[in-house]
Amino acid sequence: MIQLGLRNVGLNVEVSSKEEAIRKAGRLLAESEHIQSEYIESMMAREATANTFLGNGIAIPHGLPKDRDLILKTGISVVQIPHGVEWNPGERVHLVVGIAAKSDEHLQILTNLTHVLDDPATIDRLTRTNNPDEIIERLTRGSSSDSGGSEAEGDFDQFVDLPILGKAGLHARPATAFVNLAKSFESDVRVRYRDQVANGKSLMSLLKLGVEEGQTIRVMAQGADAAEALRSLQAAVEAGLEEEEEPAQTPLITLPALDLEGEAISGVSASPGIAIAPFYPYRRGRIQFSETADDPEQEVIRLRHAIDQARAELQRLYDDMRQRSGEAQAAIFAAHQELLDDPELLEATTAQIPPNHSAAWAWQRTYEDRAKSLAALKDAVLAGRAADVRDVGQRVLKYLADHVEAGSDLPDHPVILLADDLTPSDTAGFDPVQIQGFCTAAGGATSHTAIIARSLNIPAVVGAGEAILSLQEGTTGILDGNGGKLYPHPNEADLQRAQQAQTEQRALQDVEQQTRFAPALTTDGHRIEVVANIGSPEEAEQAVQAGGEGVGLLRTEFLFLGRDQAPSEAEQQQALQRMAQALNGLPLIVRTLDIGGDKAVPYLNLAKEENPFLGVRGIRLCFQQPDLFEAQLRAIYEAAKTGYLRIMFPMIATLEDLRAAKTIAESVRNTVNGPPVEIGMMVEVPSAVLLADQFAREVDFFSIGTNDLTQYLLAMDRGHPALAKQADGLHPTVLRAIAHTVEAAKAAGKWVGVCGGVASESLGAMILSGLGVAELSVSIPSIPTVKAALRRQSFAQMQRLARRALQCATAAEVRSL
Ligand code: PEP
Ligand code: MG
Repeated sequence: MIQLGLRNVGLNVEVSSKEEAIRKAGRLLAESEHIQSEYIESMMAREATANTFLGNGIAIPHGLPKDRDLILKTGISVVQIPHGVEWNPGERVHLVVGIAAKSDEHLQILTNLTHVLDDPATIDRLTRTNNPDEIIERLTRGSSSDSGGSEAEGDFDQFVDLPILGKAGLHARPATAFVNLAKSFESDVRVRYRDQVANGKSLMSLLKLGVEEGQTIRVMAQGADAAEALRSLQAAVEAGLEEEEEPAQTPLITLPALDLEGEAISGVSASPGIAIAPFYPYRRGRIQFSETADDPEQEVIRLRHAIDQARAELQRLYDDMRQRSGEAQAAIFAAHQELLDDPELLEATTAQIPPNHSAAWAWQRTYEDRAKSLAALKDAVLAGRAADVRDVGQRVLKYLADHVEAGSDLPDHPVILLADDLTPSDTAGFDPVQIQGFCTAAGGATSHTAIIARSLNIPAVVGAGEAILSLQEGTTGILDGNGGKLYPHPNEADLQRAQQAQTEQRALQDVEQQTRFAPALTTDGHRIEVVANIGSPEEAEQAVQAGGEGVGLLRTEFLFLGRDQAPSEAEQQQALQRMAQALNGLPLIVRTLDIGGDKAVPYLNLAKEENPFLGVRGIRLCFQQPDLFEAQLRAIYEAAKTGYLRIMFPMIATLEDLRAAKTIAESVRNTVNGPPVEIGMMVEVPSAVLLADQFAREVDFFSIGTNDLTQYLLAMDRGHPALAKQADGLHPTVLRAIAHTVEAAKAAGKWVGVCGGVASESLGAMILSGLGVAELSVSIPSIPTVKAALRRQSFAQMQRLARRALQCATAAEVRSL
């Protein structure tokens, strides 16, 4: 274990430049006889060739590898700079950790630093403390006492035994919920299953236990809040740990398998439907990297950066998938982020870097190891998670690579795609118009790839074996997703039969699709408008194609995500015009920026919030950043000159908010000479519900955001691992709030829409319509289904249903209606 003595810690240091900070760190090392003073120049020189900024206010200057003989003994120094110093443009450093590494001992310190990095509270404490021992203790703590450490060893005295009830055992989603909750406690949490003990704060460690349905685990905790941790974990496990049924995206009708004459390759049915199209072999690009590197510190930094980049990419995928297919489908990418945050992966990788391995080599070895041990588990669902580990692994590896060979392009014409295996990320990027079906050599029906295929309605067969990889590109084949077969050389009769079956099945499946353009007119002639929630220009077109009668919620913040700077005013205007054009006269409700809460935008450099959902979010942020707000409003009013736009403000909590937002909008309208535009507000804060009569006088319409309204009414964070499941938008409390809002709006002659998640559920859509909601804004794939559900009922039936729902005591009672 490396020693960090009091002499090597400089507290409360003021410096005016990075150079001064590095020299100070170097002098501490020289004075304590760890280095010859010439090594300080080597540390300065290193800056010219390497980035020593580790992230979150920490930098690790060190010398050039060629000057190692100027190091007398391995050691580190720490310079605490409470006011900070600029390291690189836009990057401030508060803790400078100077490293003189003769051997690899200092790597434990780097590992500790990587844990500290993800813990802003600890960084803050270390930045301000007057007690050098606190810094010493945190940086030199051995991994065994580190709660983020790897495989746990012994049992703790306090424990609770709990059966795992979820259908698929302790698989990725429930394990993620468990880990997230465990991490919110200070105590160490361990889980015993049979003869193995896992770290309850490490997803990988938990997954490796391979806990199957109905088995009992022992949850153990040790530390200041151990009892509380056990109580919460027990409640979460008993509540099912966020275990959700896969949403019923699959057709309700069971489709028969094809029975053709031609030779068939058998696999496993992963997603139903029939595809007839030419084959298209698909190969992912190879990732090349060198196995060795001579600067372990630099490799650790590269690893951190690669993980950060992969995490940002996953956030974009999550946002995109949530928008396209809903929260449940997107959850897989949240679980992938969780895998990335796993301390065990990071620690094991860091440990393999010295003396001279590259971060890429160490990372690949570590995740492959983990993937192999998961793949070896008996439980098919857990074994299927190996693909997720590899997916995440490769995402990071790409950023560590020397060269990524270009893989196959995605096809620009309809095909049956053939691949060795596909990751969930590959599948999430598929366009169902071009990819009529896919078949993989490996994989299983419970993989996330299969789940995503079902949600995108792409017929799929997996686990068909290597033979499919030698099929000729361009040859027309038949994929039978119902029967799990691929017919590589169908004869004319087979093709005809398949076409006929495809037509019949599509006709059956597409009753809803086919009538998607018909209005949602109830059997007694009441019409409900069904519009779409969108986040990008392309989706405006898709919404119309899906039968949407306009856009009830454009989440404009999506135009700001996944980029390095805000879109210019011209770009915003162009995007809005494109959407309005695609809607061809149908209304487009543009919600002004709702950044903050769970939607972060790194380049806006927002202050960290203690309670982001209760902080400077939505309209509050726009008031703080008037340039951003006014630019957006100018773009909206310019676009409104050529299209049908409405404006909606998010997170309105007080009349002052609404009035201020309207005043700014009106002044912007005057400066650009814009047309009058209807102004509405989101009703998603309880105060807006209670004061709805007052608000209704000052807006043209309301749109109820049940996602936020539910979290604020029930005081349950919408993304909380243990609570999110109870935060049900069909809770009678929420329904009563909606009924109250509708009454207040009606009295003022205004209309009410709902754009939260419950509107996309058939039951939700019926209850909301019965409550008098005039417009339902739903996810694009739900449009045909919601319209069909409303057409099957009379308005009188739905009103009765709504009245019964209002009388229920719990969300479960409402759902049982
Ligand atoms: C809501 O809160 O219900 C809503 C539709 O907005 P968002 O999900 O974007 O917060
Ligand atoms: Mg909201």
